[in-house]
Amino acid sequence: MAAPTTARGIAAAVKAGTTTAADFAEQHLLRIAERDGEIHAFNHVMADQARAAAAAVDAAVAAGNDPGPLAGVTVALKDNMCTRGIPTTCSSKILEGWRPPYDATIVEKLHAAGAVVIGKTNLDEFAMGSSTENSAFGPTKNPHDTSRVPGGSSGGSAASVAAGFSQMALGSDTGGSIRQPAALCGVVGVKPTYGYVSRFGLVAFASSLDQIGPFTTSVEDAALMLDVIGGHDPLDSTSIPKEHPSLVGCLDQGVEGLRVGRITDLPEGADPDVLERLEVAFEALVAAGATVVDVQVPAFTFGLTAYYLIAPAEASSNLARYDGVRYGLRVDAPDTNGMYAATREAGFGDEVKRRIMLGTYALSAGYYDAYYGKALKVRRLIHDDFERAYQQADVLLTPASPSVAFPFGAKGDNPLAMYLCDTYTIPTNLAGHPGMSVPFGTGAHGLPVGVQVLAGTLQEPTMFRVAAELERAMA
Ligand code: GLN
Repeated sequence: MAAPTTARGIAAAVKAGTTTAADFAEQHLLRIAERDGEIHAFNHVMADQARAAAAAVDAAVAAGNDPGPLAGVTVALKDNMCTRGIPTTCSSKILEGWRPPYDATIVEKLHAAGAVVIGKTNLDEFAMGSSTENSAFGPTKNPHDTSRVPGGSSGGSAASVAAGFSQMALGSDTGGSIRQPAALCGVVGVKPTYGYVSRFGLVAFASSLDQIGPFTTSVEDAALMLDVIGGHDPLDSTSIPKEHPSLVGCLDQGVEGLRVGRITDLPEGADPDVLERLEVAFEALVAAGATVVDVQVPAFTFGLTAYYLIAPAEASSNLARYDGVRYGLRVDAPDTNGMYAATREAGFGDEVKRRIMLGTYALSAGYYDAYYGKALKVRRLIHDDFERAYQQADVLLTPASPSVAFPFGAKGDNPLAMYLCDTYTIPTNLAGHPGMSVPFGTGAHGLPVGVQVLAGTLQEPTMFRVAAELERAMA
């Protein structure tokens, strides 16, 4: 029998006793030992904890108990998710030595589902960036071409799945940080509806935008993961107080009769190879019975500007807590103000400082209405824009990233060029809607291209139906 290649297959094999969770964990730990020196997907490998979790799963199977839907499946966590007693750094020097006293809700849910958490992955510092080049611990490399970035900010999680270091991974998406690296690494990446997954224990970047979601090698596995981690959490007041329907259950429904929106005023900037794949995706859906409708969504033109006021404003407030007193790093000085300044000067990297300054400015007296207040109004219009579009179309299809993976240093000196990586992903975060990137063949240099499927609030079932059809078209 061929070894299972999906999380669903692994869980079934572990439960059937045809293989063990311990075996899978060892295989992945070996691959990490062989290649992560080069890729640097991980900030911290949790070998001991992974072995203990795998042994517990095997013991449950031996005792005739069901360890859960992710029995023996290895999962890597972006290093901005709290793990009790395990360093959680956000790839920032300022959290040096900090060990959270509690697990994030998603970590508890993973344990309860029989998953084996294998390590903490690298990211752009505090999830600010699109390449992992902003990590204080050095960048992650793209497993498809190590001279190129894996995308970001959840680049370590995407690379971990693409390199076969873990079967699945979790990332966070504030403006595209799951979907863009998924596209660049050739894996599935999902940002669910805001509030679908608990954010309790996710270190906050921009709280009104942040969402946790999966990286997987198949659409079905992404559905499986969301079925496990989704749902209401009383510890997160923004989590939606209702149960979600199973997403695994809707994958075979096809796209017959669905209306797929083509955005006629999509901002320019996507490379021809990426747009070509998008066209093929439209054709594949039409061949499967969907119809394509033209829609206008000006939100795509104004999203970036609003985001770069709202996200830094929230970040400047969230990051005020790193003061040298409560967490990690402290640089001593003769007085308290001096200590704050010296700690933050030494602890934060350039991009984080840039965002804190931008956000503080946008929120300051005299500028609040002109910048932050105005951006909130634009956000409302963006939301309304999408609402109109979703009256005409069930889903929208766009590129996930304007280009395939780019070389290290290509955008390093130009923050604006880096910000433009998220043109197609950011508007969805502002609206609170779900979106996902599905690997859809290759573009320039033979590198992966991702097609983005977008849908309205809690329309994950429809989004997943379309994603599953795209996957079938590539099979
Ligand atoms: N690249 C965007 C930023 O730098 C989005 C990051 C994210 O989604 N965490 O803010």
